[in-house]
Amino acid sequence: MSFLEITGVRKAFGPTTVVQGFDLSVERGEFVSFLGPSGCGKTTMLRIVAGFESPSAGTVRIGGEDVTDLAPNARRIGMVFQAYALFPNMNVADNVAFGLKIAGMARAEREARVDEMLRLVGLPHVRDRYPYQLSGGQQQRVALARAIAPKPRVLLLDEPLSALDAKIRVSLREEIRELQRALGITTIFVTHDQEEALSMSDRIVVMSDGRMEQVGTPFEIYNRPRSRFVASFVGTLSLLEGRTVIGERVVVAGQEIEAETPGHGVGEAVTLALRPEAVSLVTSRERSNRLTGEIADVAFLGSVVRIRARFGENEILIDTFNDPATPPPERGAAVTVHFSPADIQCLDAATGASHR
Ligand code: ATP
Repeated sequence: MSFLEITGVRKAFGPTTVVQGFDLSVERGEFVSFLGPSGCGKTTMLRIVAGFESPSAGTVRIGGEDVTDLAPNARRIGMVFQAYALFPNMNVADNVAFGLKIAGMARAEREARVDEMLRLVGLPHVRDRYPYQLSGGQQQRVALARAIAPKPRVLLLDEPLSALDAKIRVSLREEIRELQRALGITTIFVTHDQEEALSMSDRIVVMSDGRMEQVGTPFEIYNRPRSRFVASFVGTLSLLEGRTVIGERVVVAGQEIEAETPGHGVGEAVTLALRPEAVSLVTSRERSNRLTGEIADVAFLGSVVRIRARFGENEILIDTFNDPATPPPERGAAVTVHFSPADIQCLDAATGASHR
């Protein structure tokens, strides 16, 4: 049995089901993200693990113990919320000591633990300050220190970075992951930010409309999405509408290309999904598997140049590395692109499912 086991969880508010068929096993020390658009049920699922909501059906087990009916404070979990959840009338040390005090820890031990936690999150010097005297990033670090101080069995993070500005977000991502690894604490992280989920997680649960769409490592989720939803929610993607013809080929905008089309018969409508980094510009005629069209837009992003090219009704994004010796192509210019058949994900045009 895994350290955290969520089995058959369903949650309804009145007549509305917001989570269903949720089954997940999380190993001790694992970092798992719940990723999905607003309203897909990720926070509800986290609150069920925390004990703030009880499921309409199903169970939650931590360390082999059924905690489904236990109150939050009896579960030994730590939680960090989106923002501003520190007690405003307590200084930093008292905020961090809060859970320890409730647990009845003696004063001297408490003080030592507070110091240790503040050192861990890189903030030993703010001990006596009040939350309003801290930046957003510092407040979230203190919230993290408060959550881990009582040595919880599971750490639950509900969009802890979403209220912070971009630069702090990226550095806190790394800090949180480093700390989580060092403590070996089993963690669930809720986010709607795919970059956060991809960069931080051991595994990601992609959710849509109260259901688990796919569970996998960031590599699997990005490279082998099982549905159109996952493919387009995670990462940037171009979708080409086509029809299969004989010999694993697909006609797109009147041009024939080679693609792997497992599970699709001849004459079926399919959607081909392509990542921008899997497409290259062709300057000579030697490459096979090409499409010819027109440059619709060029975005110079620095190290990467993102080109949008049009092929009939279809558009493809192409990421190329900046080459200081070659200026990017002009809008309206003719363009030929190449991609390897293995890099094309073939999806059912009607259902969006992948047969691979
Ligand atoms: P967000 O990123 O916006 O927080 P989410 O994926 O975390 O979204 P939830 O907050 O879990 O989504 O909400 C899932 C659905 O459940 C939403 O449609 C929401 O309106 C509904 N919901 C959540 N809490 C309640 C409640 N207490 N009563 C009724 N409906 C609720």
